[in-house]
Amino acid sequence: MNICKTVEDVRALSTAWHKEGKTIGLVPTMGYLHDGHASLMDIAHRHADKIIVSVFVNPTQFGPNEDLDKYPRDFERDQAVCEAHGVDAIFYPTPQLMYAPDFSTWVHEDSLSQLMCGQSRPIHFRGVCTVCTKLFNISLCDVAVFGKKDAQQALIIRRMVRDLNMPLQIVLAPLVREADGLAMSSRNKYLSAEEHQRALSISKGIFAAQKRYEEGERNADALKRILTESIQKGEGQIDYVVLMDQDTLRPIEQIDRPALLACAAFFGKTRLIDNVFLE
Ligand code: AMP
Repeated sequence: MNICKTVEDVRALSTAWHKEGKTIGLVPTMGYLHDGHASLMDIAHRHADKIIVSVFVNPTQFGPNEDLDKYPRDFERDQAVCEAHGVDAIFYPTPQLMYAPDFSTWVHEDSLSQLMCGQSRPIHFRGVCTVCTKLFNISLCDVAVFGKKDAQQALIIRRMVRDLNMPLQIVLAPLVREADGLAMSSRNKYLSAEEHQRALSISKGIFAAQKRYEEGERNADALKRILTESIQKGEGQIDYVVLMDQDTLRPIEQIDRPALLACAAFFGKTRLIDNVFLE
């Protein structure tokens, strides 16, 4: 497995692979890899010949009072996870390499980014779109895999790739959960044992709402209420509970098209997100 720390290192590999007629799949991550990330690597293998995983805690997607400095990092463990999942190269750049001191060019998706997480994290998706554009350009990937765990992010990236005619395919991968139901996240490490137990109210609410949907409930308020009440029971502080059109991310009242039930809530200082695609 290659560890690439410069743009030139990655480009040399990608160019050689393309010359051999191989396709390249990229899995962008912020590291501290878990089974959710690993599932993306496995899915990437089904869509491309060579797999690159980027490990980069992207400073431009964190707001001033967010957890950039304490975001968990463990590159040795990340290497082992990538090795175990047949990854061909890791791109592991420094912030200085990715952002010149006079960096001034941004990619900003203007519609979907304003809703949901965009309301409490105003610069987040600008940072995500910009870094993903850079990673696509650096890796020369043919396919990139994003998890449905970050549903809004995945839908925004898909929109950006379509709008800007970027020459790659975006694959969405299923959300992976802990055995107890909690959506896997590098941020789960922040939770105390007691917060973790209370945070299970999110997945319980998601499962209960999904079951009601499968039983035929199509009223958005009814489904949102199930999730809201469950999180309140766990004493989570709700940021949002929304039921949206999957394409526009605009709220819907009756589910008559592919929809997304999504939430964000704080348990202690930790902000968790979860969702289910209703289709
Ligand atoms: P992150 O390192 O949190 O930025 O995530 C990198 C990629 O892994 C994103 O596409 C996420 O959506 C995806 N991912 C993170 N957690 C999960 C999960 N529990 N299930 C599926 N994909 C995930």
